[in-house]
Amino acid sequence: MAEFVIATPEVVALPIAGSDALFPVRRVYCIGRNYAAHAIEMGHDPDREPPFFFQKNPNNLDSSGTFPYPPHSSDVHHEAEMYVALKSGGANISVDKALDHVYGYGLSLDMTRRDLQSEMKKMGRPWEIGKAFERSAPCGPIHPASEVGHPDKGHLSLTVNGEVRQEGDLNQMIWKVPEMISYLSEYFELAPGDVIQSGTPSGVGPVEKGDVMVMTIDGLGSLTVDVA
Ligand code: MN
Repeated sequence: MAEFVIATPEVVALPIAGSDALFPVRRVYCIGRNYAAHAIEMGHDPDREPPFFFQKNPNNLDSSGTFPYPPHSSDVHHEAEMYVALKSGGANISVDKALDHVYGYGLSLDMTRRDLQSEMKKMGRPWEIGKAFERSAPCGPIHPASEVGHPDKGHLSLTVNGEVRQEGDLNQMIWKVPEMISYLSEYFELAPGDVIQSGTPSGVGPVEKGDVMVMTIDGLGSLTVDVA
């Protein structure tokens, strides 16, 4: 095998609840506007339009429990989202077979430089500068589906310094997990290691240095993240 001319990048991996084993990450897909109340708060029609996705980079995922406030923004928002981790993939996966590809589920934040994202939206430019920055996706451990099943309902909440900011239920998703997987697989070849952030309920808002975010989803535990 040929030698690499520079050091090989580290494999990004997520912890697994109750295990020392790790889940290696290949790609990160994020769905936009997947809860009606959040679509409305962002100024959009909550009607069931086709889903849309953007991506973060695998090494934007971070399970350290600390979120460093990023540069070039004064309006960084929390978006609390369940993520889905795939153990297998393929193209054109049917809705009824989609959950066979899921390894497990976990808690995550889709941290967003809202001011930069809003500028990009206005100019019709890509969103990466608002979404795919360093450590922009704090994540908790994966709960294997073999232990927790495939949650399609369950209370989701996010507090900041003890004050409730976001509340919703997984059953309010416009596009359900099997539909998201199926839809994505029509446009991309999904593979083991792919992670999908499944959208946020309403109540997104800014954080500041020193804040403590605590997210919970019934049946999937909690995630505490310090803004540093
Ligand atoms: Mn989001």
